[in-house]
Amino acid sequence: MIQLSDRLLAMEESATIAMSRKSRELKTQGKDVISLSLGEPDFNTPQFIKDAANEAMNNNFTKYMPVPGYDDLRESISQKFKRDNGLDYTKDQIVVSTGAKQSIANVVLSLINPGDEVIIPAPYWVSYIEIVKVAGGIPVIVNAGIEKDFKITGPELANVVTPKSKLMIFSTPCNPTGTVYNKEELRGLADAIVKHPSLIVLCDEIYEHINFEGKHESLAQFEDVYEQVVTVNGVSKAWAMTGWRLGYIGAPQTIADACNKVQGQFTSGTCSITQKAAIAAMEANPVVLKDMISAFKNRRTLVLEALSNIPGIKTNNPGGAFYVFPDCSAYFGKSYGSIQINNASDLCMYLLEEALVALVTGDAFGDPNCFRISYAASEETLIEAMRRIKDALSKLK
Ligand code: PMP
Ligand code: GLU
Repeated sequence: MIQLSDRLLAMEESATIAMSRKSRELKTQGKDVISLSLGEPDFNTPQFIKDAANEAMNNNFTKYMPVPGYDDLRESISQKFKRDNGLDYTKDQIVVSTGAKQSIANVVLSLINPGDEVIIPAPYWVSYIEIVKVAGGIPVIVNAGIEKDFKITGPELANVVTPKSKLMIFSTPCNPTGTVYNKEELRGLADAIVKHPSLIVLCDEIYEHINFEGKHESLAQFEDVYEQVVTVNGVSKAWAMTGWRLGYIGAPQTIADACNKVQGQFTSGTCSITQKAAIAAMEANPVVLKDMISAFKNRRTLVLEALSNIPGIKTNNPGGAFYVFPDCSAYFGKSYGSIQINNASDLCMYLLEEALVALVTGDAFGDPNCFRISYAASEETLIEAMRRIKDALSKLK
């Protein structure tokens, strides 16, 4: 009999991936499911990036590459950090991996010993918790509810730091809430972080460019905490390159070296062709993203307006990413026929089965009162999805 490891048995399946799998299955059964479950841009990768990939293949960049990434790619990332974020990371402080997901796993495996505490503000992205658990870390959750625009403050962070706190992980713009921390709010967090020199903070900025309100702000810009911050980013979201698998970190040298060592044993680095293509993305002026960003902004308005017309649904005003994370707790305790809604998971299952709309329950993101809508879909699809959701919710009594 196959005996799986305790580590694997303790791991939850990724809820975002599980929900998209479920909707794919229903679609193959002929059901007209609208999937707003996976956080994946519906745009295609820009042609100039595909051209760079073709050129890389034709020039035989098809062999093993330096583990932390080609030098020219890391140089271009170093310049991107300077140009877009005002951050100084040398090429050697940058490690390129098979997606930001692996970048995060590398950092966690490099830093966390069993029993170390990892502070994670909730709502959080699903995979943070599971990656921390694999390393034997103990997630310490700080709740930031919808009434606080899903943000935590410096004093709230200071309250949960203990001598065992090794790492904090958060994203801005945030998946699943779309919340964006401004400079002053990040400074507030930095004030708490600087008082605990052994605390490292992983700031996940993968939605950096999908920001509707203002300028993206990085935590590492504050010199007094620079040595405590790992900045994570990648090409999946802004450049519609989810399938290419490339993420990267800018980090203090010791952490970059450790991540290099980890991936030297795990993956040898990410795809050579992807790396060469990513140079084209890094060197492009982010202005070319403006049409995509304005499409996302229009969709946000559409979804928020539709939600504001559904009784009992509460939202914040997400400043970035492509998610809305509505509070649906007003529906708990209601039913339709034999279907009883007790929590957001029940509601998502009901909406999948009755409305044929796939969403992801807030439980997976650490807020059981909410569910996540990914609005990376056409306006036409979103209008139909919102109509179905409204209809199905109106049947609950
Ligand atoms: N961080 C956040 C907040 C995300 O939403 C995602 C989703 N893809 C990732 C990291 C991982 O991205 P990648 O595709 O680069 O692994
Ligand atoms: N990050 C995306 C999401 O939250 C993609 C899925 C995943 O990587 O888990 O839906």
